[in-house]
Amino acid sequence: MNKAKIVIIGSGPAGYTAAIYAARANLAPVLFEGFYSGVAGGQLMTTTEVENYPGFPEGISGPSLMDNFRKQALRFGTTLLTEDVESVDFQKSPYVIKGSKTTYESDAVIIATGASANRLDIPGANDGEFWQKGVTACAVCDGAMPIFRNKDLYVIGGGDSAVEEALYLTKFGSKVYIVHRRHELRASKIMQERALNHSKVEILWDTVITKIEGDDVVRHVTLKNVKTAQETQQPAGGVFFAVGHTPNTTFLKGQIDLHDNGYIKVNPGTCQTSRELVFACGDAQDHVYRQAITAAGSGCMAAIEAERVLSARGHI
Ligand SMILES: Cc1cc2nc3c(=O)[nH]c(=O)nc-3n(C[C@H](O)[C@H](O)[C@H](O)COP(=O)(O)OP(=O)(O)OC[C@H]3O[C@@H](n4cnc5c(N)ncnc54)[C@H](O)[C@@H]3O)c2cc1C
Repeated sequence: MNKAKIVIIGSGPAGYTAAIYAARANLAPVLFEGFYSGVAGGQLMTTTEVENYPGFPEGISGPSLMDNFRKQALRFGTTLLTEDVESVDFQKSPYVIKGSKTTYESDAVIIATGASANRLDIPGANDGEFWQKGVTACAVCDGAMPIFRNKDLYVIGGGDSAVEEALYLTKFGSKVYIVHRRHELRASKIMQERALNHSKVEILWDTVITKIEGDDVVRHVTLKNVKTAQETQQPAGGVFFAVGHTPNTTFLKGQIDLHDNGYIKVNPGTCQTSRELVFACGDAQDHVYRQAITAAGSGCMAAIEAERVLSARGHI
C-alpha cells in the first residue's frame, strides 16, 4: 500500500495552495487532481479573464493562473495524481483514499473538491455557445467586465443569491431583470424588499428564458411567460445563473458530517471537519464567498492546521 503523511483531494486554488504549504512544511503531500470538465485545475479552467485575484494588476486568464498554482505546488515536491478519488475510509487511522487507479493510506487528509455552479439547459447557454461570452454564474467574478456595462442584464433564480447577484449588477448594468418562474421569491423578506425597492431592478414573474442569442457575445434573450405562453425577444447584454451550487462531496457521505445541502461541516473559523486530521477548504465547505482568493486562503489554513495536529499527535 502507498503511504503518505498527507493526501490532498482537489486541484483548484484551495487544493494547490494546501499542497504548497504542506510541501514547504516537509510533509511530502500527495494530491489527487481529479477532473473537472476533463482537466485538472478546478472551476477557473472554465473562465477567461480573472481580474480580482491579487498580484495580477492586468488580470490573468483562469487556465494560466491555475497553471501557476500547479507549477508552484510541483516546485516544492508535491506528488500529483491526475485521477479522481472514488471513495475514502475515515473509520480508522491511517485513512484510506481510493483513486480510480491508485490507493493511498494517509495520516491526514485535506478535502478541496470544490463545487459546481448549477446551470439550466437553455439553448445558447452552453459551452461553445454563449457560456462565458455573456452567460455566467457569478456576478462578483464577472459583473465588472466591459461587456456588461450599461446593458440590460438578466439574473435567473428566486432565492437570496439571485437577489444578491441582481443588486450587485446594478453597479454595471443599465437595468437588471430577475427572471423567476414562479409568482413569489424564495429570498428572505429583507432581500425581497431590497430588490423590489431598487429603481434598477425589475422582477419578471412567471417567466423563463427560452433562448439566448447574439454574435460574438450575448445580444438578445427570448422570454416566455409560463402562464400565457407568450414569448418576446428582448435586448440583453448578459445572463447570470443564480440557481445554486452543488458541492463535490457525494463520495464523502457517511465518512464526515455534511450539511443538508452537501457542503462539508467545519468548526467555525477553522478547516477542521468532524473527523480528526481530516480538513476541508475552498468551495466544498464555503457556500458564502466562493472566490478563488478565499479558497486559496482556506487551503493555506487547512495545511497549517494539519501540520500542527500531525506534529502534536507525534506523526511527524
Ligand atoms: C465560470 C467561473 C468564473 C469564475 N471567476 C472567478 C473570478 O474571476 N474570481 C474569483 O475569485 N473566483 C471566480 N470563480 C470562482 C472560483 O473559481 C472558485 O471560488 C474557486 O475555484 C474555488 O476553488 P476550490 O479550490 O475550492 O475548488 P474548484 O476550483 O472547484 O476545484 C475543485 C477541484 O477538485 C476536483 N475534484 C472534485 N471531486 C474530486 C474527486 N472526487 N477526486 C479528485 N478531485 C476532485 C475538481 O476536479 C477540481 O479540480 C469563478 C467560477 C466560475 C465557475
